[in-house]
Amino acid sequence: MPGPYVVPVHGDAELPDRVDVVVIGGGIIGTSTALELAESGLRVALCEKGGIGHEQSSRNWGWVRISRRDPREVPLMAEALRLWKDMDSRTGRETGYTRAGIVFTCVTDEDYAQHERWNRNLDGYQLDSRMISGREFREMYPGSQLDLKGALYTAADGRAEPQRAAPAVAEAARDRGAHILTECAVRGIETSGGRVSGVVTERGPIGCDAVVLAGGAWSSLFAGNMGIEFPQLKVLNSVIRTKPLEGGPEQAIWHRDFAIRKRRDGGYTIATLKRPSWSCRARRSAVWATARPKRSAPARSCACPKASRPGWKC
Ligand SMILES: Cc1cc2nc3c(=O)[nH]c(=O)nc-3n(C[C@H](O)[C@H](O)[C@H](O)COP(=O)(O)OP(=O)(O)OC[C@H]3O[C@@H](n4cnc5c(N)ncnc54)[C@H](O)[C@@H]3O)c2cc1C
Repeated sequence: MPGPYVVPVHGDAELPDRVDVVVIGGGIIGTSTALELAESGLRVALCEKGGIGHEQSSRNWGWVRISRRDPREVPLMAEALRLWKDMDSRTGRETGYTRAGIVFTCVTDEDYAQHERWNRNLDGYQLDSRMISGREFREMYPGSQLDLKGALYTAADGRAEPQRAAPAVAEAARDRGAHILTECAVRGIETSGGRVSGVVTERGPIGCDAVVLAGGAWSSLFAGNMGIEFPQLKVLNSVIRTKPLEGGPEQAIWHRDFAIRKRRDGGYTIATLKRPSWSCRARRSAVWATARPKRSAPARSCACPKASRPGWKC
């Protein structure tokens, strides 16, 4: 089944002459940055080379979770969960956020011990996250065929609709005065006296005092063209989407080799979790790739990703 459409955001017709901060990229990171900055009273222009939320931010699984994160991310995710709770009222729009809970299954006693150990990272956060037994799991999902030792159940986790979230946040940033510019690739950054003084976009220059690069998978290319090394791991993954189904789980579930989450339309997004073996070089390079632009690489005249695509206007 095709994915839900990304909620369209119409870009502003006019470019501002000057702002305090230019944000490059209209994914969830760029739009959220623009919202925070606009709310703090700064003049902001968000430049997106395509449409708002048209890249990874509308293609992800839509999980909003703290569970099973790298422990170093836990404080950040606790803050993210706090922010997501009020995102609909803050943006005045529907992001599809719902605190439906997330379940990580335990097939073996070792899995159980591992998840239980991980859950101690949440001690002191007062978040509802606990181990459940295999019997409790079967009671939660009576139709399940999974034979489990138990599961980590984090009721504090949830989900949002990727096709709605970034557009909602962008519109909210615009409500607070941010300029939202689509079809507006940033080609490069200008400096004066050693400081950022503006950006050059495909639609003209914008003066500014600071730039936030939130270009997603393109960030290493953009930074690399300015001689800045920004290592990124690029990940490919496939999902299937079902039609709306009756009686399925509300919680997102992460099992050994698949993960499912309910969508707002009542269907499920199902991802495979099989990853290429790290020892297989050929497959690894085909599926996973690290982008490490070399400092010594000759700078291109244009840092805009459109320049690297034959036939793209830039
Ligand atoms: C398979 C998979 C599943 C995931 N599942 C989840 C999940 O369940 N929950 C979760 O929270 N995260 C998930 N993620 C991670 C999440 O999708 C990303 O962290 C997030 O979308 C990144 O947002 P972004 O704004 O940095 O990037 P993007 O959404 O890619 O946005 C970057 C934007 O910058 C624009 N851009 C780039 N260069 C320029 C330029 N020079 N000028 C103007 N615009 C430019 C691009 O057009 C793009 O729109 C998943 C990731 C993957 C790969």
